[in-house]
Amino acid sequence: MNQPPSNVDLLAWFGDDERNVCSQCGVQACVSLPDVPAHFCLACGAITIAGIRLDTAGILPV
Ligand SMILES: [Zn+2]
Repeated sequence: MNQPPSNVDLLAWFGDDERNVCSQCGVQACVSLPDVPAHFCLACGAITIAGIRLDTAGILPV
C-alpha cells in the first residue's frame, strides 16, 4: 500500500516562524522562499506570486 498524500514531512522543513496563515484556507501552512515574492500553501496548494493567486487548476475563467 502506498502512503496517502501528506504535507506533514514538507511542513517539518519549516519552522513556526517561517509559516504564515494561508489567505485561502486559513491554515498556518503558507511558506515562501528567500528573495522570491511567492508564497506556497502546503495545506491547500495555493500559489501566490506578488499577491496574485495563481489558478493552477485552470478552473477560473480568464
Ligand atoms: Zn491554503
